[in-house]
Amino acid sequence: MIPGARLILLGRQGAGKGTQCVRLSRHFVVPHISTGDMLRAAVREGTELGAMAKRVMDAGGLVGDEIMVGIVRERLSQSDAVGRGYILDGFPRTVPQAAALDEITAERPLDVVLDLDVPRELVLRRITSRRVCRDCGTNYVASGSEKSPWICDVCGGDVMQRDDDTTEAIAHRLDLYEEQTSPLIEYYERRGRLAVIDGVASPDEVFRRLTAAVEGARRSS
Ligand code: AMP
Repeated sequence: MIPGARLILLGRQGAGKGTQCVRLSRHFVVPHISTGDMLRAAVREGTELGAMAKRVMDAGGLVGDEIMVGIVRERLSQSDAVGRGYILDGFPRTVPQAAALDEITAERPLDVVLDLDVPRELVLRRITSRRVCRDCGTNYVASGSEKSPWICDVCGGDVMQRDDDTTEAIAHRLDLYEEQTSPLIEYYERRGRLAVIDGVASPDEVFRRLTAAVEGARRSS
């Protein structure tokens, strides 16, 4: 394995992207850039961006393209991303965001775009039982038998349901995915950048498939 990579992980929310991105970022020794995490950090810091993003996120909507492109452009210009690469998680989510990313990455193009394919019905079930540490972002699956309060094994923070994991917000997000994000699959396929990974398997098996796809894409480029 050669360290460094420039990747996007696409897929419906609840497909297990976040957990796989953390593993991929350790494996390839690159920063995991999650636009959702960046927006949640802005919410915690109480910035103007955070207040606006919270309203949009809680309703299951999408923050405007211009704002998101600005945030990602700035993050990708930092030395760790320039030097080692990155894994983008949650960006791009629309065709205009993808077009802006093409321009941002013109000098150092992406290695591959991975689409983690998990059917809508399955992610709906998974998101409903998703819990997340408020402090470090570790994801958990609720079985119903957890102690209350639920304390994070990693950092001791509070494990809770995300504010945007309500039934209405989840349904809205999945509809937006079909309308706005799924066209990216064809967008990257036409550019010969796409690898579709069947995400219905154990986390270890999905990770193996993802890393194999990255290595395969690098060999052929
Ligand atoms: P995530 O953590 O990726 O599930 O993102 C949480 C929420 O942040 C999404 O439901 C959107 O409201 C917002 N968000 C994150 N990334 C983007 C993006 N690239 N474009 C628009 N909104 C975004």
